[in-house]
Amino acid sequence: MSSKPFGYVYDERMLGHECKYDSTMAECPKRMKLIYERIQADKLFDGALKIDAREAEDAEIRLNHPQQLIDEIISLNTNDKCEEYCKDKEILWTCENTNEAARVAIGGCIELVKAAVEDKIHNGFAIVRPPGHHSYGKVAQGYCIFNNVAIAAKYAIEKLGVKKVAIVDFDYHAGNGTYQSVKDEPRIHFTSFHGHHYGAFWPFSREYDYATNDPTTLFVPLNGAMNSEGDYVSVFHHVLLPMLKQFEPELILISAGFDSGYYDIMMEFGQAVKAHGYGHMARLLNQICPGKTIAILEGGYHPYNYTECASMMVRGLLNLPLPKIKIPSRISGALLETMWNILNHHSKWYPKLEERLELMEIQQKNFGLPPFVFNQTLFLGAKMRMMYDDVKKHRLVRTREWFPEMNAEQIGICKEKIDDYIKKYDFATEHADPNEEQLISQCVWDEASRSDAFMQASPFASCLIQEFNDFVAGKRENMMICDRELYAEAVRNGVLDEHTPITTTKNNH
Ligand SMILES: [Zn+2]
Repeated sequence: MSSKPFGYVYDERMLGHECKYDSTMAECPKRMKLIYERIQADKLFDGALKIDAREAEDAEIRLNHPQQLIDEIISLNTNDKCEEYCKDKEILWTCENTNEAARVAIGGCIELVKAAVEDKIHNGFAIVRPPGHHSYGKVAQGYCIFNNVAIAAKYAIEKLGVKKVAIVDFDYHAGNGTYQSVKDEPRIHFTSFHGHHYGAFWPFSREYDYATNDPTTLFVPLNGAMNSEGDYVSVFHHVLLPMLKQFEPELILISAGFDSGYYDIMMEFGQAVKAHGYGHMARLLNQICPGKTIAILEGGYHPYNYTECASMMVRGLLNLPLPKIKIPSRISGALLETMWNILNHHSKWYPKLEERLELMEIQQKNFGLPPFVFNQTLFLGAKMRMMYDDVKKHRLVRTREWFPEMNAEQIGICKEKIDDYIKKYDFATEHADPNEEQLISQCVWDEASRSDAFMQASPFASCLIQEFNDFVAGKRENMMICDRELYAEAVRNGVLDEHTPITTTKNNH
């Protein structure tokens, strides 16, 4: 353990950010409060240093956003103005306290990063909201106003003399705002694990598939549901950690979203990272930047999941014992396909990845298997993106009740699933990270892996396409920001062209 204290940020001014016109919003004040209380109850903040948050100044926000967005957010001082503002935004709500809360979130992240860089703390956790990783430029979206993590990274470089920063985003949703904020900045390495589902998942863009244009962006698009903590940690060992060792960041910022957790609100259509997986990911990142690894809260919506995950992540940052993690003998099919693609794509920039890819190719030969066929991409989201853009352009965005809340039965199922694994935590067995041989043997690409990849990816992708098709056919009240009544009226009035279903045949009637 370090002699320096762990650092954290928690400030109740951020609880004032609360949607006043819709009580069903999943991003709500208790997320912060419950996480803070849980970590206190687990005594993980005993001896820690609370870093005071403060409202960020305009000049600090301008490290990543134009004054136009800052002024717009300041002007939102009534519920009507707030809701009106969101009619051309993707999944956004605001209230009259949003400006203050968003500034406190940024100010808190900056002060925590400063404390780490100035050696006052050993790692830290900023429990903040609104979250930030979907926001960029003048675009506030996805519950995010300003991009906390991108501003903190740029502040470290511009104001604190840090040479290189890595951002690691394991939230279930793409860190699209962070990517747009840092993609032209070679001093910032950005990694995002995110639901992609062959592009049928928000933000419906090819841009978030694995084939990034630059060496300092790693995307791990998840086409299948229910990848486990062992799958995620395997990708760390195969790709992320070698990349970061070569990049040599002086500071790591974690975009800590727990909606990739096992049985968060998307249940079996989500990911399946059990809480201790976040602990192990944090532990491994701390090995790259000891004492300089700072987590910043992003998503996570089922309280029983995100409190457990946050607590385990803090254990990892504190280097406390963690339950043993099971490293799978094979990486799950859809993710394995993605990893082969990532290694092929990035190996030209990273010698260690090229080396690993060669060993995997030799293994294919030794088993008498054909080589992996690189770059077989599939993109299903074009029509969904077109409809979202159309609805925004005409200010027809549905601003309330985007998805139904979990009912009591679903909440019960999730709690039971999470309790089940908590009961099985194994603190007794020492965890050994996988060796090179184990890692290579996880990657056999054969008939079984291919069928796994298909079976793991197709149910949720089909479900997303069905939702879209049902919406355009008039069988659904909404598809997130697309509202049946607003849409139908606009089509009747000739404002919108009617959208067509995604279909596999030309004779769809
Ligand atoms: Zn998310």
